[in-house]
Amino acid sequence: MLIEALINSSKLKEFNFINELYEGQMISSVQCFCCKHISEKYDNFQDISIPVRNKTSLSCLENAISNFLKPEKLEHDNMYFCNNCDKKVNINILFIKNN
Ligand SMILES: [Zn+2]
Repeated sequence: MLIEALINSSKLKEFNFINELYEGQMISSVQCFCCKHISEKYDNFQDISIPVRNKTSLSCLENAISNFLKPEKLEHDNMYFCNNCDKKVNINILFIKNN
């Protein structure tokens, strides 16, 4: 029982160390175009998949990251239901990496 607790404790420390080293937090912010209300969602991540066309170019990697982080406008079929407006609206989604 004690050994099991120690193993679990060391696994927990290992898990926490890996989390502290690699984990970041992504904030996705949704803004309604009508009432300008902003709601935020926080997601923890350990890696992000970003498509890069030319893998040998650093500027291409920087562009890919900039594209990933730039605001995205959702409209038409992808409209979002805003509780403030009580209807489907166009929104902006902004991702912010925070660690
Ligand atoms: Zn709204």
